[in-house]
Amino acid sequence: MRLDKLRPTLAEQELDAMLISQAENRRYLSGFTGSAGQLIITAQEAILATDFRYYEQMGREAPDFQLAKIKTRFEDLLPELVSDLGIGCLGFESEHVSVHQLRLWSQATDNVEWVPQRETVERLRAVKDEGELDALRRSVALTDAAFAHLLGVLEPGMTEEGVAWEIEAYMRTHGATKVAFSLIVAAGPNGALPHASPGNHPIAEGEPIVIDIGCVVDGYCSDMTRTLCLGKPDSRYLEVWEIVHRAQETAEAQIRAGMTGIEADASAREVIEQAGYGDRFGHGLGHGVGLAVHEMPGASPRVDKVLEAGMVLTVEPGIYLPGEFGVRIEDLVIIREEGVEVLTQSPKRAVSL
Ligand code: ZN
Ligand code: ZN
Repeated sequence: MRLDKLRPTLAEQELDAMLISQAENRRYLSGFTGSAGQLIITAQEAILATDFRYYEQMGREAPDFQLAKIKTRFEDLLPELVSDLGIGCLGFESEHVSVHQLRLWSQATDNVEWVPQRETVERLRAVKDEGELDALRRSVALTDAAFAHLLGVLEPGMTEEGVAWEIEAYMRTHGATKVAFSLIVAAGPNGALPHASPGNHPIAEGEPIVIDIGCVVDGYCSDMTRTLCLGKPDSRYLEVWEIVHRAQETAEAQIRAGMTGIEADASAREVIEQAGYGDRFGHGLGHGVGLAVHEMPGASPRVDKVLEAGMVLTVEPGIYLPGEFGVRIEDLVIIREEGVEVLTQSPKRAVSL
């Protein structure tokens, strides 16, 4: 049970309980998918405090948790809860609780020491279990299917927005609850902005298009990027595309459990640097994906944490040439002891049509 993974932290941090407020963390530990609620976890007890809208849903989704009914505000319920549970020292998620909220809670609980905690559940979420990997596979498969559908209809003259909607509509009508993020379709110079939003720019023949897409299936996200062009590309684009492709394949061949995020990042970065484009790859190589589309672990020049087997990571090198175009290729992989298992199956081709 996931609670068993959290509980050792209580002893390590000398806490009587941990209060979990963040939505994905709450879902990960309890199974509860509602939009509002707080978990209080002690060595023996697991409480889910939520309001009238979720009383019934909570019972179905989080059978291991005891319901505490919020009738007015959570802080009105807190004094009784901490006294019943004998809580003197309470950990809270300092990255997810506002200053205002903490003030209300601590004012309601005179004798409780509120102890900030960071990344407690996020660290647990980084390593996926088989059920999570299955959900991730379904999410990736639907993204692959949406891209295959797009390749059948994509043609010059479509706008970036039109392409994005084509993909989103396919995902939504084939089992996704939603898209995992605002889909990116960026043609020509827009592709040089790593997080461009689609506009009404009609896509011209020969213009490179960065397509970064993902959906949510059973709560789990997917994230994939392909860069291609319709018709005859120019030679500069082909050269840059080949470098990014080589960087990506090199990283996928080298990354394995036991590497740090810095080492994983370097496996792709070295290829791009050697080709002379080191200063045009300004973001990290990858991020974890799970209940959230950006989560732990990370692979970048700043992340010295070690990658472990069972973690899920994007491998997404890119080269961005302002005013011209960008190229990014992104797969989702599972970190294994001996290498990576690449989940994304969409074809990688510089040119389509
Ligand atoms: Zn992406
Ligand atoms: Zn990504």
